[in-house]
Amino acid sequence: MEKRNIYMDHAATTYVKPEVLEEMIPYFTENFGNPSSIYSQARVTNMAIDESRGKIAKAINADRREIFITGGGSEADNWAIKGYANANKHKGNHIITTTIEHHAILHVCEYLGKNGFEITYLPVDEKGFINIDDLRNAIKDTTILVSIMFANNEIGTIQSVKEIGEVCRENKVVFHTDAVQAVGHIPVDVQELNIDMLSMAAHKFYGPKGVGALYVRKGIRLENLIHGGAQERNKRAGTENIPGIIGMAKALELAVENMEEENKKLVMLRNKLIDGLLERVPHSRLNGPCGEMRLPGNANITFEFIEGESILLMLDAKGIAASSGSACTSGSLDPSHVLLAIGLPHEIAHGSLRLSLGEKTTEEEIDYVLEVVPQIVQRLREMSPLWDNFAKGEK
Ligand SMILES: *Cc1c(COP(=O)(O)O)cnc(C)c1O
Repeated sequence: MEKRNIYMDHAATTYVKPEVLEEMIPYFTENFGNPSSIYSQARVTNMAIDESRGKIAKAINADRREIFITGGGSEADNWAIKGYANANKHKGNHIITTTIEHHAILHVCEYLGKNGFEITYLPVDEKGFINIDDLRNAIKDTTILVSIMFANNEIGTIQSVKEIGEVCRENKVVFHTDAVQAVGHIPVDVQELNIDMLSMAAHKFYGPKGVGALYVRKGIRLENLIHGGAQERNKRAGTENIPGIIGMAKALELAVENMEEENKKLVMLRNKLIDGLLERVPHSRLNGPCGEMRLPGNANITFEFIEGESILLMLDAKGIAASSGSACTSGSLDPSHVLLAIGLPHEIAHGSLRLSLGEKTTEEEIDYVLEVVPQIVQRLREMSPLWDNFAKGEK
């Protein structure tokens, strides 16, 4: 049989759509002028950047002056947390986040925790949701910032962002959300949801890598992360990544345009995948919620009595690219912090598989995965002493 090439790791990164690339190319070769210069070429690039900023702002219902370009999601997260903490430490030193954040938030908080800030990590329930009363109770006089992710990259949980924003507003605490998995995938409106700062990354919605944005509500003070020239209204120095900015704006525009239709298809395929796996593989369970509060393209299943890394290698041999929860923890032996946070025991968390679907995923690919995965799980279980012991016990 011909070798398959099935990509089910869209939550880690996506390819650039041809229409997006096409818009970018002239800004590499022709319209490359440094926007800070005074010749007329610079005006062209300046206007293009401004137009793109407007498109990005519109996609989340912000003003273009509230959009600051960054070098990706991690930089936006770092800037939001460090920049806000450092500019507002005279008001207090307490920051609230959760145990299931991306490392771009968690490791920043750990760093600040060693440098005079106090961090509270809110726990989550077995589906990955925070409890809104936990948030209310955690806020105190010294609290300056709450950072809670919009949607989780491993298990797909979409938080009740509006409610979180309301609690923050009532308590006059600034609310940042890591929306890297949400923007371009589900509706995001910073006004309606009471969001004060928000991070996004182009390569999660079919734009280029190495470019992202931080939305900062008017009136919020942030210290610079990058010092130098006067770019990004004096807040983030460095000659602009013009093709990247153009590409991000185009990708986001397309994503928002196609979102409703796209999600109908993704939800149908995702549900078929999840239901099919749970039905065909005994001792398997879904991680994260079902239905509306789950990212449309995310499936995350734990198969008891196997190891996640070996399943990835066997899937790869069958032409399927997937992930064992978090791409960032691959290579380390610790199970995913998210799966531990939702209460999975260590030995079970290891046997988890994240399949994240995208715009090109077909039903035929889902059928193939549904055929291949149960066979692989069975073979791995036959080699596993854990399974052996369990099977003996059952007899
Ligand atoms: C991918 C991701 C990031 C990091 O974004 P980069 O552009 O890779 O730096 C941050 N948060 C979440 C939730 C992500 O999925």
